[in-house]
Amino acid sequence: MKPLSLPPRLLMGPGPINCYPRVLQAMSTQLVGQYDPVMTGYMNEVMALYRQVFNTNNKQTLLVDGTSRAGIEAVLVSCIEPGDKVLVPVFGRFGHLLAEIAERAGAEVHTIETAWGEVFAPEQIEAAIREIRPKVLAVVQGDTSTTMLQPLEHLGEICQRYDVLFYSDATASIGGNPFETDKWGLDAVSVGLQKCLGGPSGSAPVTLSEKYVECVRKRHHVEAGIRDAHHQSASGSRIRSNYFDLPMIMDYWGEERLNHHTEAASMLFCARECAVNLLDEGQEAVLSRHKTAGDAMLAGIQAMSLQPFGDLSNKMTNVVGVNIPDEVDGEAIRSTLLNTFNIEIGTSFGPLKGKIWRIGTMGYNAREDAVYHTLQSLETVLRRSGMSLPLGEAVDAAMAVYAGRAE
Ligand SMILES: *Cc1c(COP(=O)(O)O)cnc(C)c1O
Repeated sequence: MKPLSLPPRLLMGPGPINCYPRVLQAMSTQLVGQYDPVMTGYMNEVMALYRQVFNTNNKQTLLVDGTSRAGIEAVLVSCIEPGDKVLVPVFGRFGHLLAEIAERAGAEVHTIETAWGEVFAPEQIEAAIREIRPKVLAVVQGDTSTTMLQPLEHLGEICQRYDVLFYSDATASIGGNPFETDKWGLDAVSVGLQKCLGGPSGSAPVTLSEKYVECVRKRHHVEAGIRDAHHQSASGSRIRSNYFDLPMIMDYWGEERLNHHTEAASMLFCARECAVNLLDEGQEAVLSRHKTAGDAMLAGIQAMSLQPFGDLSNKMTNVVGVNIPDEVDGEAIRSTLLNTFNIEIGTSFGPLKGKIWRIGTMGYNAREDAVYHTLQSLETVLRRSGMSLPLGEAVDAAMAVYAGRAE
């Protein structure tokens, strides 16, 4: 067999992205036993680190093993009982995913929709809550499919007034855009590593408020020692998943260390390094690094006369949508960038398929040189495909942003 051999891609799409080198190193760390005090010590440390990442005091802050949607599924399937109403404001592909998962969990799902490229005003969400009276509001913060960032800061207070559990999937936005679990009144948040946190996919950090925990614990009546086979729900509707049963996962991460799954140790080491990377550099510094890289990429795109997609006042820092010019074949451009320049950019889904490219600047790749390489390469590929565009101005415009001289 030939050895593993991958081209040195620069991943400038909407995720996954290249990992921070320290995260790659952590992945090759030798294992210890599941209940070795060294391992459980690291589990506790990871809980403490992610409380800082999420800006929360929530005791129940832990990892669900699996990609980001494992976190989504755990949060929803653990709290939704058949017939519970769930409200999902949909402004892109991932809103549809939340709705689909809630529906499979047995919820009566209500969605409200807005045009792709826009977000909701708090009044629109409040009006829907008043009408529907859901048990859960499930909303994506940053939806990479449209590059929009839904403001969350006014929704917690609304949810509190109507006694609604407030959940957000912040996978694509955390670490690159402000996120305040406690200040914004969230009851549950789930994320993944492969966007701004700069890790591989495969671990889903979640944080849960006391109110959320109380809600899922109610579904559990644990008799010591006979959990898997016999535990009954107090309310009669048992959580419909063993793997994603958050009370069981909490008991595994808690003092009792009740056996559930075998923690995915290598992913835990990755998740730890992602958090340490963020906190060592400092949240403010990392957010500002993402903001500058995103602004520079946007300036470069505009300087080469391409049109960005969507409402720029609600754009995520870490990804920009670019309307594909009529005179070029979007997929051919992407494929040349990939095969000739080793640079990956993204396409999009649904109504935006074939209409926009998505260019990310996240995690390790929210970096000056990565922005310049991408802009210059894209310009070259577009020029060689016959498009006439102002030459050399993209990188100059991005450099001006980095120099703090943006017009
Ligand atoms: C990228 C992304 C995910 C990814 O889910 P995976 O299961 O890790 O593929 C989930 N939610 C949002 C909002 C995302 O942008």
